[in-house]
Amino acid sequence: MTDESAETSGTNRRTFLKRASIAAAVPTAAAVLGATLPGTAFAAGPAAGLPDYAPVPSGSFGPALNEDGYFVGQIKGNLYWVTDGSYQAMFLTTRDGVVLVDAPPTIGHNLKRAIDKVTEANGRPSTVTHLVYSHSHADHIGAASIFGKDVTIVGHGETRRLLRLDGDVNRPAPSVTFTDRYTLRVGGETLELAHHGANHSPDNIFIYAPAYATLMVVDVIYPGWVPFRNLAVSVDIPAWIKAHDIAMKYPWTTLVGGHLGRLGVRADGDLQKQYVNDLMASTRAASASVDPTPYFEKYGPTGNGWAITKTYFDAVTEEAARPIIEKYIGLLGGADVFTYDNAFTMYESLRIDAGELGPFGIKP
Ligand SMILES: [Zn+2]
Repeated sequence: MTDESAETSGTNRRTFLKRASIAAAVPTAAAVLGATLPGTAFAAGPAAGLPDYAPVPSGSFGPALNEDGYFVGQIKGNLYWVTDGSYQAMFLTTRDGVVLVDAPPTIGHNLKRAIDKVTEANGRPSTVTHLVYSHSHADHIGAASIFGKDVTIVGHGETRRLLRLDGDVNRPAPSVTFTDRYTLRVGGETLELAHHGANHSPDNIFIYAPAYATLMVVDVIYPGWVPFRNLAVSVDIPAWIKAHDIAMKYPWTTLVGGHLGRLGVRADGDLQKQYVNDLMASTRAASASVDPTPYFEKYGPTGNGWAITKTYFDAVTEEAARPIIEKYIGLLGGADVFTYDNAFTMYESLRIDAGELGPFGIKP
């Protein structure tokens, strides 16, 4: 590829991203203005067969994005956050440079633009001297490489181990690691990092800014929205559920959840806990009420064990999800998008973690 075509494809990519971010900003602006969007359903084309979902509650949206496709805002004092409507990062401006927490690739170079904008205004140095990783996943830290080789990267020991295995040049392994707790002090500012065991991922940490009563914990609580599919594709579901309580024990007033377009308040944490508890109760009830007989009757004679399992599990999942979708559809964004997947994962966790095996328990 010549330099010229590289530049062209770079331009196309920027144009595409700009269009995509404007599209993302539209509902945000509409929500702010209290307007309804005409003609949001496409009549024809490749999108024609895609499902329709319930409108997203207006309270789920965050602030409108600027023309570069991001929003940067002050949380409190020297603490700021950046979003592109899908992902979030947080940064502290200190006397000695910037401490950035996460570098989501979708925000990418807009992280630098956001930091420059803020530091130009508050007169603090704009160089990112420290980068903290919430966890190893590429969707949250995959733009780490744009901050060069001189930045000090801080993360959990497990994050370093995982990143060394991944070998992704865009995610250099942390040079400073810790096991349980680490206090990061830079230029008069403080972040308290803590690992409370596995939850969404083995290495996911809690990042607390005590001076600003702000907690950043990623892929656990999704302010305004149901959790990402399959309960945030967590490696340990019981621990991910417990992580909600751990998060709520911190005396935060602002939560940076790492996803979507707005910050969280404590009521968001309470509401998601309620969603998870309701889903657990509904899944238990569905597991007790769905009769497995027809699935064994139909597929047993064919010897297709997977067909029995799939159709029965699907029936339980469907039954578990239905009342939860009904209850949360006006309260949380995406209730009708991901609750089915979340119910499946809850059911599987009740089976394999809690040992609630239903018809697959100890044979009498
Ligand atoms: Zn993740």
